[in-house]
Order: sequence, then structure tokens, then C-alpha cells
Amino acid sequence: MEQQHLIDLAYLVAGILFIMGLKGLTHPRTAVRGNLLGAIGMLIAVVATLCDHQVLDYQTIIIGIFLGSLIGAVMAIKVQMTAMPQLVALFNGLGGGASVLVAFASLTAENTTETESLITNVAIVCSALIGAVTFWGSLVAFGKLQELSFLRKPARFSGQQVVNLLLAAATLLLGLLVLGYPQDMTYFSIFLIAASVLGITLVIPIGGADMPVVIALLNSYSGLAAAATGFVVDNNVLIVAGSLVGASGVILTKIMCKAMNRSLFHVLFGVLEAVGEVADADEVYSGKIKSTSADEVAMLYDSAERVIIVPGYGMAVAQAQHAVRELANELESRGVEVEFAIHPVAGRMPGHMNVLLAEAEVPYEKLKEMDEINPSFAQTDVVLVIGANDVVNPDARNDPTSPIAGMPILNVDQARTVVVVKRSLSPGFAGVPNPLFAADNCLMFFGDGKQAILDLNRALKES
Ligand code: NDP
Repeated sequence: MEQQHLIDLAYLVAGILFIMGLKGLTHPRTAVRGNLLGAIGMLIAVVATLCDHQVLDYQTIIIGIFLGSLIGAVMAIKVQMTAMPQLVALFNGLGGGASVLVAFASLTAENTTETESLITNVAIVCSALIGAVTFWGSLVAFGKLQELSFLRKPARFSGQQVVNLLLAAATLLLGLLVLGYPQDMTYFSIFLIAASVLGITLVIPIGGADMPVVIALLNSYSGLAAAATGFVVDNNVLIVAGSLVGASGVILTKIMCKAMNRSLFHVLFGVLEAVGEVADADEVYSGKIKSTSADEVAMLYDSAERVIIVPGYGMAVAQAQHAVRELANELESRGVEVEFAIHPVAGRMPGHMNVLLAEAEVPYEKLKEMDEINPSFAQTDVVLVIGANDVVNPDARNDPTSPIAGMPILNVDQARTVVVVKRSLSPGFAGVPNPLFAADNCLMFFGDGKQAILDLNRALKES
């Protein structure tokens, strides 16, 4: 068999492994295997690509592999679990940046542009356009998730959507100019600057609770940029892998949109729903907060038959998942029915809570999704909210002027008693006060998530 046929066969095997890997990732039980299959597929694809006769300079590639592996390994070891979303945003951005570099290299490669077909040039323009939007958009998303002060507040001005639309149209026109004059680097540079500014202006006005949608969307863009790059360098496996990332990213975006009650069209075109003023925290809380202690909560559990635990970002920060699992075990050993309520955007990345609870060996069947568990809060004796805030904020349901209005929430306020574990009355990611904390049936258990649950476990054992 010819070498090219062997390479094509390897690409086919890699493509099948990617699809099997994605299928595995759809369920926590098969996720580890799915991840491994995808990684093996990627290894096969990389080795097969290196065997291609197009590859002329192995020295540069080896230096790149060495440097990339070193940076990747250090980041993977050093980065805290709570900073994973920022890392994902950064990696999405690097994928986009790589596509821009390949597009640039293809345009400037000696003697190629004249013979380049129109299809390749269209692919170069798409690769540079989507790549630049992804790169700069992801950097802004990184800054927002890192809570950098100058990006914390969404930058909005009137007529912003019109400006974005005009900028998008101008960028497309410049792309057409690049197609007409592929050798003119001035057109290409202006086109690249316009695409970069578009990436920034599309993400910069998005704030608060909408970030999960942006992360999923940028993930999808990075896949589309890679697929376009696959056409540029004529590599089938890159087209397949990029399309899979692009398509799965769009599906994830749709799931996140549903969870945030935002329309995909509005997110795609950077259109934001009108938001009202953020309520004053002092007004919401003053004189209405009741604090509690580990011993008091343990007494509440004495008479409880059904308990729901609601984890949020603060559980991840406190690394309290193991203590939470011990609490659930202790309650179950006393005959209490315990379930976990998982909001689709709890934490800072899709599936954040599922990953943490799986790591603590909480059985999957105990994790209930929002739609399934919401009707049962009214029949629940005690709900323990640990480090969750926006995803249990009743204003999303009751106040149409709230910045998180319309976002589906876990209806914890309908339970007989709600205990909220957090360190203070600080707001969550969306930056809005939460009237749940001032409700009659709510008790605030102030403290670090892990320490509070450890204290509660001790109090339960002593009671
Ligand atoms: P929130 O960000 O609303 O609230 C987290 C709460 O945890 C804070 O109020 C904080 O209060 C508390 N907390 C922080 N550290 C600790 C600790 N060590 N111990 C105890 N509590 C702690 O989290 P939710 O999970 O409720 O909501 C997620 C938010 O993030 C949503 O707005 C969502 O849109 C957004 N988001 C989600 C993404 C996703 O993909 N899932 C991605 C990006 C954003 P205090 O400081 O007082 O302790």
C-alpha cells in the first residue's frame, strides 16, 4: 500500500476514535474512556501527519512539541480546579491564534499564492477571520473569568449592536478584498485588525451570568477555525476534528442558552437583553438576615426526612466535595432521603459540579437535573445550599428588571427550610444581591464551605 493510503487509513481510524470519544463523553460513567479514545485518536492523527511528505522541517516541529508539552504540562499541574474555565478559554484562544498564523503563512509562502485555487483562498480568509475573532474574544473571556478589574463590568454603549453589525460587514468586505488581491499584505493586515476588533467588541459587552454561553460559543468557533485551517493545509483529519469541535460546541451553546434563557441568535450577534438597575444590597438584606451554627443545622436534620444539597461555585473554591459526600452518607445512614440538585451553569464551566461530585464518589443517580428536581423542593424539609448564589436567586423568576431575569433557577426558596453556606453576603458571578438570603425560611451559615460542612458533620455525629 502506498504511504498516502496508509496516512488516509490512519486519519479514518483517528476520525472514528474522535466520534467514539465524543459519544463516551456524553455520560459520566464512560467519560474517562471517551477521553482516552479521543487522545489515542489525536496521537494517531499527529503521527500520521508527521509521516506526510509535506513535512520538510522536523527540527522546528520537535522544538515546538517540546516547548508546547512543557508549557501544557506545567499549566495542567499548576492550575487550580477553580481556574479551569479560564484555562479552557485560553486554550480556545490559542487554537484560534494558530489558525491565523497558518493562514498568514499560507498567504506569504513563496510562489504559492499565484497557483492557489479560489477554494484555498476562501479557506485562508475563513481561517484568519474565525481564528482572529476566537483569539481576541477568548482573551477577553479569560480576563472576565479571571475577574480582572477593567473587564469585570460589561462595557456597553448605545447603538453597540449596530456598531458590531457594521464592523462585521466591513470585515467581510475586507475579506473579499483579500480574496481579490491575495498577495497584498496591506489588505490582509487591515482585514486581520478588523476581525480582531470584532472579536473584542463581540465579547466585551457580555457580562455576569451570560459567560457560559460565550465559553461554549468560542469553543465552537475554535473548532470552525481549525476546520477552515484543515482546508488551507489540505489535511482531512483537521477538517474532521475541527468540524466535530465546531458542531459539539454549537450543541453545548444551545444547551447553555436554554439554561440561561437566552436566544442563540442574540448571543451569536452580540445582542443583549435590556437589563435594569442592580438592586441595593443594603436594602435587600438590612435587618432580615438570620445566621445559624453547625449545632443548629444538625438539630434541623434530626427531624428531616428529605434533604436536597445544592452545590455551586463556592463548593469548588472550598474543595468541600468530599466533606459534602460524608454529610450525605451520614444523613442516609439515619434514614434521610438525600439528593443533589445540579444547575446546568452552576460553577464556572459546563459540568463543573458533576465533575467535582464524581471525584468525591457521589453516585450519579443521586445527581438530579434542574427540571427533574424543581417540582420536589416544596416537599423537602431542608435544602443545604453550599457556595451557590446566582443559580438559586428567586429574582431571576420574580423580577423582570433583574440582570438575570428569565434565567431558570433551582426553586430552593419553596422548601420548608433553606440553609445557605457561604462566607459573607457577597454577590455571585452576576454581581446581584440575592433576596433568598433575607427570606423567612432561610438561615445563613457563614464560613468557608469545607470548614462549615466539617463542623456540621462533627455536630451531627455528636448529636
Ligand atoms: P455564584 O458565582 O453565583 O456564587 C458563588 C458563591 O460562592 C459566592 O456568592 C461566594 O460567596 C461563595 N463562595 C466562594 N468561595 C467560597 C468558599 N470558600 N466557601 C463558601 N462559599 C464560597 O455561583 P453559582 O454556582 O451559584 O452560579 C454560577 C455563576 O457563574 C452563574 O452566574 C453563571 O452564569 C456563571 N458562570 C458559569 C459558567 C459555567 O459554565 N457554569 C461559566 C462562567 C460563568 P462568598 O464570597 O460570600 O463566600
